[in-house]
Amino acid sequence: MSIFPDFDRLTPLTGFGRAAQSTSYLYRPTHVEQIAELFREAATRGLSVALRGAGRSYGDAALNAGQIVLDLQRMNRVLAWDPATGVITVEPGVTIEQLWKYTLEDGWWPPVVPGTMFPTLGGCLGMNIHGKNNYHTGPIGEHVLACEALLPTGELVRCAPGERPDLFYSLISSAGLLGVFTSITLQLKRIYSGDLAVEAWAAPSLQDMLADIDRCREADYIVGWVDGTTGGAHLGRGQIHRARYLAPGEDAHPAHSLSLAYQDLPDTLFGLIPKAIIWRFMPLGLNRLGMRFANLGKYLISRTLSHHHLYRQGLVAFNFLLDYVPRWQHGYRHGLIQYQTFIPQAQAADVYRAQLAEAQGRGFATFVNVLKRHRPDRFLFSHAVDGYSLAIDFKVPGSRSGRTDLYAMTQRLNEIALEAGGRFYFAKDSTLTPAAAARYLGPDTLTRFAALKARCDPGGLLQTELYRRVLAPALNGGAPTAPAAAALRLPERAAVPEAGPGSNGQGR
Ligand SMILES: Cc1cc2nc3c(=O)[nH]c(=O)nc-3n(C[C@H](O)[C@H](O)[C@H](O)COP(=O)(O)OP(=O)(O)OC[C@H]3O[C@@H](n4cnc5c(N)ncnc54)[C@H](O)[C@@H]3O)c2cc1C
Repeated sequence: MSIFPDFDRLTPLTGFGRAAQSTSYLYRPTHVEQIAELFREAATRGLSVALRGAGRSYGDAALNAGQIVLDLQRMNRVLAWDPATGVITVEPGVTIEQLWKYTLEDGWWPPVVPGTMFPTLGGCLGMNIHGKNNYHTGPIGEHVLACEALLPTGELVRCAPGERPDLFYSLISSAGLLGVFTSITLQLKRIYSGDLAVEAWAAPSLQDMLADIDRCREADYIVGWVDGTTGGAHLGRGQIHRARYLAPGEDAHPAHSLSLAYQDLPDTLFGLIPKAIIWRFMPLGLNRLGMRFANLGKYLISRTLSHHHLYRQGLVAFNFLLDYVPRWQHGYRHGLIQYQTFIPQAQAADVYRAQLAEAQGRGFATFVNVLKRHRPDRFLFSHAVDGYSLAIDFKVPGSRSGRTDLYAMTQRLNEIALEAGGRFYFAKDSTLTPAAAARYLGPDTLTRFAALKARCDPGGLLQTELYRRVLAPALNGGAPTAPAAAALRLPERAAVPEAGPGSNGQGR
C-alpha cells in the first residue's frame, strides 16, 4: 500500500467553528519516516503541506485548500512515563484527554489545559495554548522540557529551553509553519486530589469583574463569564469562578477523586436528557432574545443561589466545561467565529466596554463570553499580554450581507484592540488582515519569523490558509486585505478549489 495520500481524492475539512472549510489531500502517518517521505513527495509534486492535530482551532489554521493536510492524530503513543517525577514523553497526536487519563491515577495533571480536552499536544504546542491559570503558570510551552521536530529540510532537531533556544521558543507558537513536532516531553503538575476547591460569585459590572479577577491572582485558576446582552452600568456584568488545588491531606479519599470513573462527565443533563441530542435544539435559543433570557437567568442565579458559593469540583468538570455538550458547535447552523483579543491591564475595561457596545449597537448578539487574566511570555507568536483576554462567540449569519456586516464589525473591534496595544491569537482568528497582524506582531517578530522560515523551510513547504491569508502577505509588507468573505472564510462552497495534483493553484 502506498504511504502517500490518495491524490485522486480531496477530503472536506473544517475549522472547529465550521465557518472555514476547504478540501485537501489528507494524509495520516503513523511514523516519522513517513512524514519525511511525504515532505519529499510534496516538494516533487509542487504541493504545500499543512499540519493538523484534532482540528480544534476555530478558523483556518489547520486547513490547506487543494493541497496536502498532514493529520497527526494517529501518532498518539506515550513514549515514556515516570510517575515518580511526573515527566512524560509523547507523540504529537496524544490528546489532552489521553494525557490526563494516563497520569491522573498516579497523581499528576497537565499544568496547562484549554477549555476542551480534545486537542492534541502537537496542536497545543503549535499554538502555545493557555489555560485559566495563564497569569501565573504561563502557556504550555513553559512546561515543555524538550521536544523533537522534523523540519521540511529533512533535519530532525531536538530543542529544549537550554538547547537551541532560538528554535525552541519559535517552533512552539509558530502555528505549524516551521516544523512538525514528533515527540514532546512535558513536566506535569503534582496533585493530591482530583477535586478543586472552587468559589463562585457575581460581579455587577465589567469594572468589578476586572478588579476582582486581578485581586484574586493567588488562586490557581480564575475565569469570568461576561453577560454581553446588557448595557449601561451593567455592561459586562457576570460571574467569576476561582479555584485552588487541594493540599496533601485535605481530601480524605484522594484515590477516589483521582479515579477516572469519578472524573467522567455525565452523559445526561439532570440525569434525564441525553446530552448527545442537545445541540439539535440549540438553534431555538441561539438568537438575541434567547441569549438575553439565558444570560439574565444565569446572572440572577449567580447573584442569588450561587453568590459566594464554595464547593468542590472535579478537575475535569471545572476545566472542560465546554465539553459538557457534545457537538455544540453544530448548533450554529452556519458556523461560529470566536473573537478573542488580549488587552493590557490599564486599557482592558475601556476596550471591552467599547467592543461589547459596538457588537450590541450593530445588532450582533454575543453568545458565550469568557474573561481570563494573562501575563506575557517569550515565545515567537505570543498572544499574551500583562492584562486580560475576552473571548466572544459570534454566530455566522446565513446571508452574504449578514456575513459582510459581521466582518465589518470585527474590523472595527480589531481597530479598537490595536489602538490599545492589544494582541490576537491564531488559534481563534478568522478576521485578521495582514496589516493588523503586522501591527500587533511588530517588525522584529516578522523579521525573526522570516529568517526562521528561510532556515527551517527554505522551499516554503509548510503552509496553511491562515499563513496565506495573514502571515505571508504581512511579511511582504501588508499587501491589500482580502475581500470580506475570503478573510472570514465564510461558507462559500462554490469557491472551494478543486485543484489536482501539481496544479499548485494555492500556494507554493
Ligand atoms: C471548545 C474549545 C475551547 C478552547 N479553549 C482554549 C483555551 O482555553 N485556551 C487556548 O489556548 N486555546 C483554546 N482552544 C483552542 C485550541 O486549544 C487550539 O486551537 C489548539 O491548537 C487545538 O489543537 P489541535 O490538536 O486541534 O490542533 P489544530 O487546530 O489541528 O492545529 C493547531 C495548529 O497547530 C499546528 N500543528 C498541529 N499539529 C502539529 C505538530 N505535530 N507539529 C507542529 N504544529 C502542529 C497546526 O498546523 C495549526 O497551526 C479551544 C478550542 C476549542 C474548540
